[in-house]
Amino acid sequence: MKNFGFQRKESAFCCNLFFTILSLVLMVGGLLTGCGQNNAPSALAADTASQNTSATSESYSMELFAMDTVMTLTAYGDSAQAAIEVSAAEIQRLEQLFSTNLEDSDIARLNQDKQAQLPDEAISVLQKAVQLYQDTNGAFDITLYPIIKAWGFTTENYRIPTSEELQQFLQHTGIDCITLDVDIGMVQLTDAQTEIDLGGIVKGYASDRVIQQMASYGVQSAVISLGGNVQTLGTKPDGSLWRVGIQDPDAPDECIGVVETANQAVITSGPYQRYFIGEDGTRYHHIIDPQKGVPAESGLSSVTIVSDSGILADGLSTALFVMGAERALQYWQQRRADFDTILITNDRQIIITAGLADCFQSEYDYYVFGE
Ligand code: AMP
Ligand code: MG
Repeated sequence: MKNFGFQRKESAFCCNLFFTILSLVLMVGGLLTGCGQNNAPSALAADTASQNTSATSESYSMELFAMDTVMTLTAYGDSAQAAIEVSAAEIQRLEQLFSTNLEDSDIARLNQDKQAQLPDEAISVLQKAVQLYQDTNGAFDITLYPIIKAWGFTTENYRIPTSEELQQFLQHTGIDCITLDVDIGMVQLTDAQTEIDLGGIVKGYASDRVIQQMASYGVQSAVISLGGNVQTLGTKPDGSLWRVGIQDPDAPDECIGVVETANQAVITSGPYQRYFIGEDGTRYHHIIDPQKGVPAESGLSSVTIVSDSGILADGLSTALFVMGAERALQYWQQRRADFDTILITNDRQIIITAGLADCFQSEYDYYVFGE
């Protein structure tokens, strides 16, 4: 691997401790999607010892299926149940607004009609997506939807589009195909072939909203997993940090490390989360390189973002995966106040950025980038 100025950390992590955590992970794996479930996204709350699936005087948990994935919400305290019920309704509301799977969602209608008057909330999510496109030099691009459909990721009728087809599609992508009039809440897709898909950020936005809802109900301690994308509110009820397991991209039933955190989102993108195998044995996954229209091959096998903001963490996990390690670390140097990252390369090198140096643990050696 190219040396970007890493500090190598020999694992000081006690193996026994790791396996203790791993057993906890496996114990709760069925409850909070993550290591232990095939094809599940890659982070989970690894250490939520007092969780349960029903109400107790201290905690309340709910599992639901929305946005094409399993979600688990757990909150502690007197208002836990009310906060979770309102959060579940909030998730359904957001799905109705943003999901391209639902024919009558606001975004599906925009794709069909090419223009729509949208609520302020949708406009601000679209603004965020546009900003991410600009900030990441187009690595995060919500206009790839026709390409994602052509590969069959929306229907699971998988196929490999021809390069001529992809070249055609690529003429109708890019942020110039979207016009936002923020003042009147109007969005236009200026190219008749353009369609958008917020799949790269919507779960992160939803987790921000759920955490806000819970806080507004007076909840001080909560952990949610939206398809493996974890976000936490406060600390655990006993005041200790949440422990979020990071899936091993080569063995998604196992964890490659643990992040200790409070009040943050821990969101991972990786090719193992959604893919198909072609006739020649090649794996084709769902994170698309916007330059080429094909699954991004950037030398990374997963990217985790740790941030105060769920929407940013979600958008950047997708974007940094497309960028590859070198560009991703350069990007982090410019934006290090906003997030930290864990990059795992195809040859199983683990690189964490400096902000995680004191809160990442692994049984494997890893590199710390930055100071
Ligand atoms: P994530 O799991 O957050 O990495 O998001 C992946 C999803 O985002 C895919 O299933 C697509 O719906 C969409 N997507 C794929 N490639 C990109 C990209 N380069 N930029 C933005 N969204 C993308
Ligand atoms: Mg994402």
